[in-house]
Amino acid sequence: MLKARSGVTDVSWPAICEPVGASMLALQFQLQQSEYWSSEQLLEQQLAQLQLLLTHAVEQSPWYRQQAEFRLLANQNYPLSLQQFADLPRLTRSALQQNLKAITATSMPPAHGQRLELATSGSTGTPLLGWESELNHFFWGGCNLRDQLWHQRDLTQTFAAIRTNVEHQVLPDWGSAISASFETGPAITLNISTPVEQQLDWLMEHQPGYLLSHASNLQALAQLSLRKGLRLNRLRAAISFGERLPDPLRELCAAAWQVPLQDIYSAEEVGYIALQCPQDESNYHVMSEQLLVEVLNANGDPCKAGQSGKVVITSLHNFAMPLIRYEIGDFARVGAACRCGRGLPVFTEILGRARNMITLPNGHQHWPSFPADLWLSVAPIEQFQLEQTSRGQIIGHYVMAEPLNADQQQLLTDKLAQSLKFEANIVLEHHHKPLNKPGEKFEDFISRL
Ligand SMILES: [Zn+2]
Repeated sequence: MLKARSGVTDVSWPAICEPVGASMLALQFQLQQSEYWSSEQLLEQQLAQLQLLLTHAVEQSPWYRQQAEFRLLANQNYPLSLQQFADLPRLTRSALQQNLKAITATSMPPAHGQRLELATSGSTGTPLLGWESELNHFFWGGCNLRDQLWHQRDLTQTFAAIRTNVEHQVLPDWGSAISASFETGPAITLNISTPVEQQLDWLMEHQPGYLLSHASNLQALAQLSLRKGLRLNRLRAAISFGERLPDPLRELCAAAWQVPLQDIYSAEEVGYIALQCPQDESNYHVMSEQLLVEVLNANGDPCKAGQSGKVVITSLHNFAMPLIRYEIGDFARVGAACRCGRGLPVFTEILGRARNMITLPNGHQHWPSFPADLWLSVAPIEQFQLEQTSRGQIIGHYVMAEPLNADQQQLLTDKLAQSLKFEANIVLEHHHKPLNKPGEKFEDFISRL
């Protein structure tokens, strides 16, 4: 049961929330309407908000001011059309990093609050990703709360998060985005660089109701739970974010813990991009109230249902660092209308980054599949990663106590060649230590081409 948090003495129910909580509930009320709007209704409101963003960007950001296409649209006094928007130049990830200062707004409307730093996942020494306003952060919180409500999570349970940028801690609530308007149970956090064995001990000790982590970490935890025959008896759902979902993870969570997996598509620069539909686990719904998300084919035209293409994002409320038609580097597959009735656009698959695509000797590319059972069926490999170094060569890095023998090597390279459809050189390389640095995102396939 949801219990709103009252901020008024001697009023328990119905609750009168503190101002931030009240604003959060007011936002949810609107989101619960707009998620059922038609695409035309959504687009009309997005373009109106976009006009405000464009005007601000041209006034406050030297990067946009110097480009005639943006100046022209910022000054027009009739509604912005989708075609005009789609003709604007795009901003790549590397252009953002190289021109961060010029893109950052020199000032913001006071009501948008302070400027907050956006940091990459991973530890110290990583470059600054940019800025967001406090107001934008509030909208991110709105998506966080929406995810909890969509999946009808029991907020009184313990919420465990194993991720980067957190310490080993017990917190009184699920974070301000949730606890400003609802009573919640405690949250516990652990850094993802903790060895998996210790992570599982910690989970066994605390027996949380929910567990959030990166997909590859959940996979390792579920496998270890199965191997050791340990159950997380109070767990109701596993929640993944920040990485491409490995094929068998849903089945693995069901086998290890008898719980569903709920995936979140997000990125540090723009926050929540799409949330798994509460009625259909094969669909993600785009957060169109916060972002205008395009999926474009190689010609720059919008993809139709069933097609996959480049994800291009416009962040509608971040006036601290206007991101207009930002090529985040991910690919996604567009889906048809969802049976849940929500009008928010649908993705059926988040395909990950271009650097996670394999290139065959003939130049063709695809996202490779090599599920864990493929390499685990050969030997008790602890961690496995493929690195493409040229069109003709892939290196298979594996972590194991002892190197594979000649027969195992042959078997593994044969299985990989078949699964990857890669008929060239596959070399195996033995490692004793983990393949990713502590706290670093793990990518199972990296192309160096
Ligand atoms: Zn749906």
